[in-house]
Amino acid sequence: MSKPIFKKHSIFFRIFIGNLLIISTLSALILLFSLKTIRTHYINTLRDSLKKYAKILEPEVTPFVLSGSYEDLDRFVKRIGAETSVRITIIAPDGKVLADSRKDPAKMENHFYRPEIQQALKRGFGSSLRYSTTVHSNMLYVAIKKLHTPTYFVRVSMFVKDINTLLGNLRSELFVFVIFVTLLSILGAFIFTRNLSKPMSELVHAADLLSKGKFDIRVNIERDDEIGELANSFNIMAKNLDDLFNTIKLKQDELNTIIASLDEGLLVLNAEGKTILYNESLKKLLKVDPAGKYYWEFLSDHELMKFLENAINRRESGRTEFNLHGRTYLANLTVIHSKREFVIVFHDITELKNLERIKRDIVANVSHELRTPLTAIKGYVETLEELAPQDLENFVQILRRHTDRLINIVNDLLSLSRLESGGIHHTPEKFDLQKIARDVVSMYRPRAEEKGLSLCLKSEGDLLMEGYPLEIEQLIVNLVDNAIKYTEKGRVCVKAKGNRNTVTLIVEDTGIGIPEEHLPRIFERFYVVSKSRSRSLGGTGLGLSIVKHVTALHRGEISVDSIPGKGSRFIVTLPRFLTKS
Ligand code: ADP
Repeated sequence: MSKPIFKKHSIFFRIFIGNLLIISTLSALILLFSLKTIRTHYINTLRDSLKKYAKILEPEVTPFVLSGSYEDLDRFVKRIGAETSVRITIIAPDGKVLADSRKDPAKMENHFYRPEIQQALKRGFGSSLRYSTTVHSNMLYVAIKKLHTPTYFVRVSMFVKDINTLLGNLRSELFVFVIFVTLLSILGAFIFTRNLSKPMSELVHAADLLSKGKFDIRVNIERDDEIGELANSFNIMAKNLDDLFNTIKLKQDELNTIIASLDEGLLVLNAEGKTILYNESLKKLLKVDPAGKYYWEFLSDHELMKFLENAINRRESGRTEFNLHGRTYLANLTVIHSKREFVIVFHDITELKNLERIKRDIVANVSHELRTPLTAIKGYVETLEELAPQDLENFVQILRRHTDRLINIVNDLLSLSRLESGGIHHTPEKFDLQKIARDVVSMYRPRAEEKGLSLCLKSEGDLLMEGYPLEIEQLIVNLVDNAIKYTEKGRVCVKAKGNRNTVTLIVEDTGIGIPEEHLPRIFERFYVVSKSRSRSLGGTGLGLSIVKHVTALHRGEISVDSIPGKGSRFIVTLPRFLTKS
């Protein structure tokens, strides 16, 4: 459906009105110019005719002038004038009117200075178109001067209104003709404009539909001009958009199918925390319909809501665990910064958690059960050490080393499972980190000296802090134990530094160092860089894992710098106070 062509501001309206104005102006100008030309031509023709008329009159008039019978002359011109509707005036060389076909010559003023007489005096012929004061009308005068004696002027004239009457007919004919031509031109302009504006309107209409999402629209304009090219380009553009839209739609369908088939719950929130997308799994998991709701309207878990609030406010990705309807979930939040949206995937980790718990319980139970027989074995080994004959001493020592190693592993495993299961039941307390560090350093001094290492302790600032002193001691013991274990010469240094809100503990050594590729894994349980070396040094592969857990228990951070062959530096940063989250 096309738009009405006469709509104001439409291209048709503008071009057509423009053409109309040009045609009307040209027609009016042509009409005026033609009338003027015709009038001039007509007057010139009339002037020639009047001149001939005067010339014909001249031989008729001469006898009257020669005889001086002016009254007869006057009667003669009045008769001729009445027959021809031409005014005739005979004028003496001094300008005196001798006879006139319309008036009494005696009552007429001297005509010597009439323009046509003056011209005739100079050139033998004169003419003038002007107002006659004698007959009070516009007239065309033509005068000739008789050259030989008796000299006089014959002046013939016609009323302009007679000329106008004659021209009037011509004018109306011309007017009808011009109107006809104008109407024909307007019709032409209409067809031309319509021919030009129709495809334009079609294009505008199609572009309008395209902008409203009707991508299958095409125009059918076949022309070999710019409009044709425009229509062609429009069709190509519409096709490309159509293809693009179909591809996007396909991708969208694909994505929707994937989202719907996910076992994990999926929730997308906008910057205000309102649901903009979710899947069926989420609905089942929450047991509510989150459609169009803000997250606080359909979530009940306090921890999860707090996590979402923080993540949305800070626009920070993150993850948290929470329990809902007797199951455990891991919520993984990712920020889409470009759209200020938040994608949260809910994984059901109940089974995983159960398995982890079972594994931890087994480890804890086995370790616990092993402790009693191991302690007994150790007691007997010690007794054996004292009683064993010289030749068996070596075997007993091996027995003792392995028993010690087993006890170490069991103890470390117990510590680890206690830390992992959150089994630290005592409340945090205030303690002096410097004192703990000093005790550990004193405890290890003999071992360091034994290896010929210098062991130093440097402390700086206020080192009073809140936390779990037994676990912190275990942390320092493990770091110092490792440092001494893996250092053959040089020194081991423990540095403690109190800052405003944090305390930093650094344990550095000049030992063998850790190759870079092992650094990301050394905090894993049972991970050792060199199995044989660790074993021979009595290592369990659990020390750094305990260190990591104690740091996490205090909401601190741990990092390590190490250069193989030069030494290692473990940096633990702990908050001074344990604020409840
Ligand atoms: P281990 O009981 O074997 O020492 P850890 O968990 O304490 O186990 O340490 C893991 C591994 O990290 C060690 O086997 C050792 O290779 C490496 N490591 C730890 N501390 C140091 C250190 N100060 N210098 C060199 N290597 C170290």
